[in-house]
Amino acid sequence: MFPLPAPMRAALDVAAQAAAAGEVPVGAVVVRDGAIIATGANAPRRLHDPTAHAEIQAIRAAAALLGRDRLEDCDLWVTLEPCAMCAGAIAHARIARLYYGASDPKGGAVEHGPRFFAQPTCHHLPDIYAGIGEGEAAGLLRDFFVARR
Ligand SMILES: [Zn+2]
Repeated sequence: MFPLPAPMRAALDVAAQAAAAGEVPVGAVVVRDGAIIATGANAPRRLHDPTAHAEIQAIRAAAALLGRDRLEDCDLWVTLEPCAMCAGAIAHARIARLYYGASDPKGGAVEHGPRFFAQPTCHHLPDIYAGIGEGEAAGLLRDFFVARR
């Protein structure tokens, strides 16, 4: 198999950690100048925060680290297609490139549902690359929900 790019490998590891903590396994990392500068694990249950999705956690950490609200020189890697809230945050952060793993026909908002970035009201369109590490990302989610049944 083709080896996964290091940032997606890292995002999948973060997703697995989220699963171990009882959260739906989604992980994200922010990359700047080829280096991972922030990670985010899905953590709404643990933090009692419905907005604590992996992407939001990673964007907040990266923005705090850089001391600014715009991350136009950063890329976001996430294991699952972002939801509408996270797509909005990605646009607000001016993320340059979005890489994601599994598609999410139910909650995704990039290629499904509201197709956030395709709306005329969307003020920032990142370059989007889907399906990276898709099998592994989907497998983590599948195993998580099977174990909870
Ligand atoms: Zn989200």
